[in-house]
Amino acid sequence: MSPTLLDRVAFVTGAGSGIGRAAAVLLAERGCHVAINDIDPSSAEDTAAAVRQAARVALVIAADVSDVAAIKDGIRRAEQHFGRIDILVNNAGVSSDKRALEDIDEPDFDRMFGVHVKGAFFATQAVVPGMKRRRSGKIINVSSNWALHGATLLSHYTGAKAALIGLTKAWARELAPFRIRVNAVVPGSTVTPMVLRRLPIDKIREIEQSWPLGRWLEPQEVAYSIAFLASPEADMITGQMLVANGGQDFPGP
Ligand code: NAP
Repeated sequence: MSPTLLDRVAFVTGAGSGIGRAAAVLLAERGCHVAINDIDPSSAEDTAAAVRQAARVALVIAADVSDVAAIKDGIRRAEQHFGRIDILVNNAGVSSDKRALEDIDEPDFDRMFGVHVKGAFFATQAVVPGMKRRRSGKIINVSSNWALHGATLLSHYTGAKAALIGLTKAWARELAPFRIRVNAVVPGSTVTPMVLRRLPIDKIREIEQSWPLGRWLEPQEVAYSIAFLASPEADMITGQMLVANGGQDFPGP
C-alpha cells in the first residue's frame, strides 16, 4: 500500500457507482478510511465491501446530497465515527435526457442544481469547520468537460457543472489561509452506469472513434486524478481544474 494517504479519512459522495466508487476504492488502496455516501444504500454497501477488502474502515452514509439536513447529518456522523474528515470528494451526480432549453422545467432545473451545486455547497460547508480547526483539508469537486465546452440540449447539466468550477475558485481563495486546498477534476466522457443507462455500448464505441485518444475514459482513470489532488504531492495546487478528458475538446474533429 502506498503510504501517501495512510490513515487519512475521505468522504466521497455518490460513491455507490462509477467514478465515486472507483475513487473510494482507490483512496482506500492508498491508505484512506472512507465514508461512502450514496442515495442508494445497497450500492454504497457494495463499495464499502471493496474498501474493507483493502483493509480500511468503511462507513456507509445513505443520504440524498440535495437534502441539506441529511447530508449535514451524514458528515456529522462520519466525523463522530472517524474523528475527522481530511478529504471531501463532491462527486454525486445525475444526468438527464437531452432537452431543449424551453423544455427544461423547474423540477428538472432544481434536480440538476440541487444534486450538483446545492449538494456540494452544503457538504463543503459542513466539513469546513473541522478542517479549519486542524488547518488542513482537501476538497475535490467533480465537474465535467461539458462545463468547459457546453453540452447541446443539456444546458441545466452544463450550468450546474460550471457552477462547481466557480465554487472551486471562490473556496480555494477563501480557505487558503486555513491550508485547505480546493480543486476540481473535470472528466471527459467516462464509461459509467450513468452513461450506460442512456447509450448502448456499440454507440459508445462508435462515438469514441472520433476522439484523439480513440476511447472513453474508465472510472479508474478519473479516480487517479482525484487521488492525486487528495495526496500531499498536490499540496501546492489549489483553485485549479485537472482536466482528465482524453483530449475530448468539443466540438470534436
Ligand atoms: P454514476 O455511475 O451514476 O454514479 C453517480 C452516483 O451518485 C450514483 O451511485 C447515484 O445513485 C449517486 N447519486 C445520485 N443522486 C444522488 C444524490 N442526490 N445523493 C447522493 N448520491 C446520489 O455516474 P458517474 O458517471 O460515475 O458520475 C459521477 C460524477 O462524475 C457526476 O457528478 C457526473 O456528473 C460526473 N461526470 C461524469 C462523466 C461521465 O461521462 N460519466 C463525465 C463528466 C463528469 P443512483 O445511481 O441511485 O442515482
